[in-house]
Amino acid sequence: MKAKILIIGGGGMGTSIALHAATRCDPLDEPVVLIERDRLGAGSSGRSGAIVHAAYSDRALCGMARDSLKQYMHLTTHTGRSVGHRKTGVLILSGDSKEEREHHHADFEMQRSLGINAEELDAEAIRARVPGIEVDDDAIGIWQADGGYLEPSRTIETFARLARERGATTRTGITGPRVLVEDGRVVGVETDQGRFEAEHVVLAIGAWTPVLLEQLGVKWPLRVLRTEEHFVTMPPVDISDEDEGFQDHGGGGHEARFVPDPLETLPVAHPVVIDRENCFHIRCDPQEERSRVGRLGFKRLPELDGPLGPTEQASAEFSDWARGSVAKRLPFYADMEDRGSNASHITVTPDGRGIVGEVPEVKGLWVVTGFSGLDYTLAPSIGEGLVQMILGKPVSAFDPSFFAPDRFSGEG
Ligand SMILES: Cc1cc2nc3c(=O)[nH]c(=O)nc-3n(C[C@H](O)[C@H](O)[C@H](O)COP(=O)(O)OP(=O)(O)OC[C@H]3O[C@@H](n4cnc5c(N)ncnc54)[C@H](O)[C@@H]3O)c2cc1C
Repeated sequence: MKAKILIIGGGGMGTSIALHAATRCDPLDEPVVLIERDRLGAGSSGRSGAIVHAAYSDRALCGMARDSLKQYMHLTTHTGRSVGHRKTGVLILSGDSKEEREHHHADFEMQRSLGINAEELDAEAIRARVPGIEVDDDAIGIWQADGGYLEPSRTIETFARLARERGATTRTGITGPRVLVEDGRVVGVETDQGRFEAEHVVLAIGAWTPVLLEQLGVKWPLRVLRTEEHFVTMPPVDISDEDEGFQDHGGGGHEARFVPDPLETLPVAHPVVIDRENCFHIRCDPQEERSRVGRLGFKRLPELDGPLGPTEQASAEFSDWARGSVAKRLPFYADMEDRGSNASHITVTPDGRGIVGEVPEVKGLWVVTGFSGLDYTLAPSIGEGLVQMILGKPVSAFDPSFFAPDRFSGEG
């Protein structure tokens, strides 16, 4: 089989790239193939909280997050398939120092200037959005009504299914890929199930990227960090407060062209809350009748030697911190029972910006990694822009120099 574009890795990034590639390539003349060594979503994408919003401080990332959010919101209308985007709204609470409050306001102005659906809230409006929340009378927040979270496995399944509907091939259980290079140019991949010839190979293998790059003598300063989440019972939902109560349309889950995907309307106890003062985020996970609490930012996360396996749990110390932080802000969680935890990994670069682009040393080899936990937030824009780059088209999804890998050449 000769692929125009061969993607290695079936997480959120790989499947988004496969979808965008399949949308633009002719299935007969320019085949798109994705190979995954395990099952789709076996990496950190499958364990993600998958919160999505466009409330960042960086203008470039905000623009991409805005566009990605639009793709998620309109996917069902355009394709009849859903990513389980539960639009709960996202509340971002400012830190309490003068400097943080000024930044917060500047972020809000910038987001509005990009056409992002954002509202600035005072303490009274915050309390109205999240009944029971504890904030000082001078608290400020940003409200993004279009934000919420995705159901990670539904997102990956939908991206992969749509890619296949457009002619792509996805193959799981293919191990040991070795990138084949001739005269400085990719020619394909050797695997335990034979050789795949390919004009372009994309590494979308997240925290495993250094392993395959090192086989080619390429070393970048990527770090893998441990990320944890603590789970606690979701508080009861007052259905009468819900404008979109859950209705089981009996559709079985996937084809959502004429009925909403039940995952998109499940009642939640409160919107996503991102608390910059106490450094946590929390989102409801109504399918599991629990809420997921994570730590904000990645500067204090422990570094790992490599990716974590699929059954890791958070440390007792993290769970204590998560419970305490949430109960301070949302006291109605104080009496909720613990419901386990989750630990996985994210991949980061020295400047905190992801990598998207061609490996300078190997023509036709492309890498996507290092998104520090913004992967779902950006995956549609990344998929779109990377495919534009590969096909030599003008790149409208982002500025390629922002993510260019050559900024790390020789730094490994
Ligand atoms: C606890 C947690 C919470 C998070 N919360 C959010 C959030 O709220 N919002 C957000 O946007 N992001 C969040 N993230 C980040 C994000 O979801 C993931 O880190 C991201 O999806 C990684 O995507 P990926 O496709 O690059 O990598 P992965 O999902 O790790 O996928 C890589 C795939 O490549 C495969 N693979 C590896 N090596 C090979 C090989 N040699 N051959 C073939 N296949 C291979 C793996 O099996 C895997 O399936 C969170 C992450 C974690 C861990």
